[in-house]
Amino acid sequence: MIFDEEINQTIRYMKPSGIRKFFDIAATKKGVISLGVGEPDFITPWHIREAAIHAIEKGRTFYTGNKGLIQLRRGICDYYKRRFNVAYDPETDCIVTVGGSEAIDIVLRTLCKQGDEVILPTPAYVAYAAIIEMAGAKVVEVELKEEDQFKLTPEALKAAISPKTKAVILNFPGNPTGGVMTYEDYEKIVPIIKEHNIFAVTDEIYAELTYEGKHVSIASFDEIKDRTIVINGFSKAYSMTGYRVGYILGHKDLIGMILKIHQYTIMCATTPCQYAAIEAIYDGDEDIANMFVSFKQRRNYIVKELNRIGLTTHMPQGAFYVFPSIAITGLKCEEFCEKLLEEENLALVPGNAFGQAGEGYVRISYAYSMEQIKEAIGKLEHFLKQYR
Ligand code: PMP
Repeated sequence: MIFDEEINQTIRYMKPSGIRKFFDIAATKKGVISLGVGEPDFITPWHIREAAIHAIEKGRTFYTGNKGLIQLRRGICDYYKRRFNVAYDPETDCIVTVGGSEAIDIVLRTLCKQGDEVILPTPAYVAYAAIIEMAGAKVVEVELKEEDQFKLTPEALKAAISPKTKAVILNFPGNPTGGVMTYEDYEKIVPIIKEHNIFAVTDEIYAELTYEGKHVSIASFDEIKDRTIVINGFSKAYSMTGYRVGYILGHKDLIGMILKIHQYTIMCATTPCQYAAIEAIYDGDEDIANMFVSFKQRRNYIVKELNRIGLTTHMPQGAFYVFPSIAITGLKCEEFCEKLLEEENLALVPGNAFGQAGEGYVRISYAYSMEQIKEAIGKLEHFLKQYR
């Protein structure tokens, strides 16, 4: 590259996402089945689409306030109270963002100073490490283990904390492991967060896909509520990935600071999509419930089938991913995925795309039709005959 020396060196040395890399290869091949991408396969429910269309028809095509439409912020705060028993003030404690993605970026850029450390339980969603580095901070990985059902244990958290620790990222239900933290699990880590005065950045984008029991938000622990920043969005719960609407909830002083970045870089989330989000948050509970039933059926099926064909697979408690161990093949995860793509035309994501802790695993998304899932299982079974 001719400008290598001149550009920002953090960007120069940043690895492109390990997910996209695979799908770029898959896109060049014919007849590939992919269980790689983390987006629901349902078309957005019609009444939500209609709300976006209606907004455009009515000429609601202008900027909104930087924080987003107040009706939407009210809906979001009501929802957090109603579903997770956490109270926020829609006037001061909420920003509507361009997906959870923007939210992760502006929260971390607000919190991190050069040289800070951010604890990242891994395997983790690919964006966190890159954004922490872009924010000038250092990633401190903590390994989530299958034997702990991919939960963050108090021992692991304590061991990772140093005087430089600024925050810990929490993503439960988690991508890619499907790990979930219960109230009792959080009870053990909340005192550690409080004692060390660090921030909890909790990405709850898969909250509605919690299969056993109810999602617990760590923000419901009063003793650390002020140090907790919630990230969530509409992409997964309502199958609205393309609308790009997410949000941040937190203490008004932090929200005020985070808003500065949003104001200068984004202005506001797209207006017609904010109207669609209003429809979703006030009237989308039934849609969530319907998709939930489908995802749960697919989860149960795929876990049973993967174990049957020989890939040991932990039963994920949330999200729409399974994370089977490929130990029986003796292959490294990238090699496994390359061969699988080459020989069976099946695209999965190597576990190490989510951090070194993911080596020895692959991520399979079951946000696909049962037909595709069944075909993929057939291909995997055929593949394993050769490699076990
Ligand atoms: N957080 C997690 C854990 C995710 O898996 C994703 C999407 N894969 C996002 C955030 C970003 O979602 P969006 O920007 O579509 O809201």
